[in-house]
Amino acid sequence: MPLLDTRGRSLRNLRVSVTDRCNLRCAYCMPEEEYVWLPREEILQFEEISRLVDVFTELGVDKVRLTGGEPLLRRDLPRLIAMLAAKPALRDLAITSNGVLLAAEAPALHAAGLHRVTVSLDTLRPERFTRLTRRSNHAQVLEGIAAVPRAGFTGTKLDTVVMRDVNDDELADLIEFGKGVAAEVRFIEYMDVGGATRWSFDQVVSRTEMLERLERRYGRIEPVVETSTAPADRYRLSDGTVFGIIASTTAPFCADCDRSRLTADGVWYLCLYAMRGIDLRGPLRGGASDTQLRALITGGWGARTDRGAEDRLALGERTPLVQIAGLKRDPHLEMHTRGG
Ligand code: SAM
Repeated sequence: MPLLDTRGRSLRNLRVSVTDRCNLRCAYCMPEEEYVWLPREEILQFEEISRLVDVFTELGVDKVRLTGGEPLLRRDLPRLIAMLAAKPALRDLAITSNGVLLAAEAPALHAAGLHRVTVSLDTLRPERFTRLTRRSNHAQVLEGIAAVPRAGFTGTKLDTVVMRDVNDDELADLIEFGKGVAAEVRFIEYMDVGGATRWSFDQVVSRTEMLERLERRYGRIEPVVETSTAPADRYRLSDGTVFGIIASTTAPFCADCDRSRLTADGVWYLCLYAMRGIDLRGPLRGGASDTQLRALITGGWGARTDRGAEDRLALGERTPLVQIAGLKRDPHLEMHTRGG
């Protein structure tokens, strides 16, 4: 019997943050000068992550995505990947990376058994990348993307957070770039998640507007009809190229959301917008049995009512979700801690 929440949504998709550290400072995610980091001794060991993933898979999780922060900053990550890849219950094992360290790491990730890679790529212009991320690694990101198919990966995605007057003039350029590197581009609406302290609605480019702009360039765009709980709606250009749009801000998909997130220090969040999570590290390190951990997870998911993005949409006036003081008090509210 699948484990269902109060709205009939199953527990399938777990995003595991392996570090809260990042080597970029993207304007939509980490725009501040200083951050409060998770204490090192609280970060889960690989064996602890692996044990929790076992418990989650027994309860229905069959997709795991490693994220962060920047997951490739976690030392010896291929060792964790090999541990997870050995679990037959995992149908899909993927990573989301900013690409900076990917050129060096892609072969080891593939050899360890990783299935798929998603790279964040917000711009094709180096000077714009530097402005957006406050770092100058654009060439490394492009090298990282090139290394992914060379290492043997298929099914690669490139994720772009679209911000008005920042990179919204690059939609078609990014689709063309994706064709050249055999990757599917997905445009993400700028979200008012924790950490996006500079968010304002006028910087959001909606799915509707993106499609209008792309139709002006490419002509008719067909929706791809599919039944899946993936967040992206997919579309096909007349030449067959497929791209996606994740419209979390203007058209949330809470009704189908089977995603939850485990922070690097073992707090389990059932919604990207949730203010509280369930501590799994405490019980794990306190000697809880698998049965006890299963009960904790079952109880949490069974009581899940969250539909955070829909609640945000229902607000008339939208401002950033959490103010800076709140983020400093509880860094778990940050997107880079929770795991994007
Ligand atoms: N460092 C990795 C990376 O850059 O892909 C993984 C972590 S990062 C938090 C994952 C993703 O979160 C980003 O690529 C971006 O797509 C998403 N993200 C962060 N803040 C966002 C925001 N305010 N709106 C939309 N997406 C956001």
